[in-house]
Amino acid sequence: MASPVRVRFAPSPTGFFHIGSARTALFNWLYARHTGGRFILRVEDTDAARNSEAFLNVIYDSLRWLGLDWDEGPGVGGPFGPYRQSERAPIYKTHLQKLLDAGRAYERDGALWFKLDGERREVFDERRQKNVIKVARPPAVINDAIRGRVERLEDEDFVIARSDGSPVFHFVNVVDDIEMRITHVIRGEDHLSNTSKHVELFKALGAPVPVFAHIPLILKQNGPGKMSKRDQGALVEEYQRRGFLPEALVNFLALLGWNPGNDLEKMPLAEIVARFDLPGVNQSNARFDERKLAHMNMEYTLALPPESFVRKAAAFFASNNLPPPTDTPALFDAVMRLCQPKIKSLGDLPDYTRYFFTDNFPVDEKARAKVLSKGDPAARLRELLDALQNADFSSDAAIETAIKQLAESRGLGFGDYQAVARLAVSGSNAGPNLTGLFRVLGRPRVLARLARFLETL
Ligand code: GLU
Repeated sequence: MASPVRVRFAPSPTGFFHIGSARTALFNWLYARHTGGRFILRVEDTDAARNSEAFLNVIYDSLRWLGLDWDEGPGVGGPFGPYRQSERAPIYKTHLQKLLDAGRAYERDGALWFKLDGERREVFDERRQKNVIKVARPPAVINDAIRGRVERLEDEDFVIARSDGSPVFHFVNVVDDIEMRITHVIRGEDHLSNTSKHVELFKALGAPVPVFAHIPLILKQNGPGKMSKRDQGALVEEYQRRGFLPEALVNFLALLGWNPGNDLEKMPLAEIVARFDLPGVNQSNARFDERKLAHMNMEYTLALPPESFVRKAAAFFASNNLPPPTDTPALFDAVMRLCQPKIKSLGDLPDYTRYFFTDNFPVDEKARAKVLSKGDPAARLRELLDALQNADFSSDAAIETAIKQLAESRGLGFGDYQAVARLAVSGSNAGPNLTGLFRVLGRPRVLARLARFLETL
């Protein structure tokens, strides 16, 4: 029986957590959940000058927000800890010594070098304009689970520890994959060029070489080239701040380079887990499409059960330090339910719902000019004020009946009252349906706002 899958996400906390890192974490997590294996979080924080605790906390927060729970790692522990490389110096020292003892490492110019197997000879390197030692040997073969067979010649010794004794990335990365019993290394394609070095190190340390799976790059939305942390829409926390649903972002990221083998886009997480596999990951690069992400988020937002939408809306206001818009929970609940079908993300809510919670709302000047240019809005407002004085506001249907009866009595239609009424009570020409709007505001506020607006005409 093959040993159980153990995969890891190994971020370096040197910058904000971006879409590409989140996708690498997600593919590892999906593979672990798909196979019943374990997902390990390992922090590659050996570069003290470039790492920061703040960046690390953003990584933890973003992973938790996305629901990518780790089975071993910082905060949860595990049998192969510590899980931060900055706390593992003695382990690296032991392995460096092992290579020195075996004659596979040597000192040169203060640094420690890894010694490749094979015959050496000194040659003049044109490009670097100096003599270098070349090692005669066959190329390393990598059977990448995504890229297929990749050959790469590693024919020069390389540094594994700097003159200050600190081991370099290639070395600590491989030592930890060995120590943590990693079976599959799933990571960005930018690391494919390092893999031949890593293979040599695994072999020299007497460890089995894990399966490698290099995920294609994410191209920026417009134009050529790889998406970078500086590109618009690149940071995970941005979506969190804008009220995107993590399940929408996870669904979107899953499709960024993985083909589920059907035309489905929106898929429950359980189905993504069930279908995800490495052969389904594309070799070609994936292009980031923020509109597609926004659309996915809208679909998820619309599909939320209303009570869950209301809860998330409240959490969104709270997490963004927005003052609670009302201290009447029933009003908050009614407003959110009414507006759910009309918004694209939770982030739209503060602006979209403002006039429900204050009488002091702005009036859109363009909308005002447009509405006032047609028919006789003042007359319509006077009629509404009169007809609704004692109207039943307990249901949308009752409100609709009242307005329709009024319209009929004047030989007009519902539409003749709609735009000016909406403008008067909300300051806008867009919003949830008018009868729902009236019901949620309640008769006294509707009448007061109609009268107030009429006075401005
Ligand atoms: N710390 C490396 C990075 O951030 C991880 C490399 C790997 O996954 O092997 O890219």
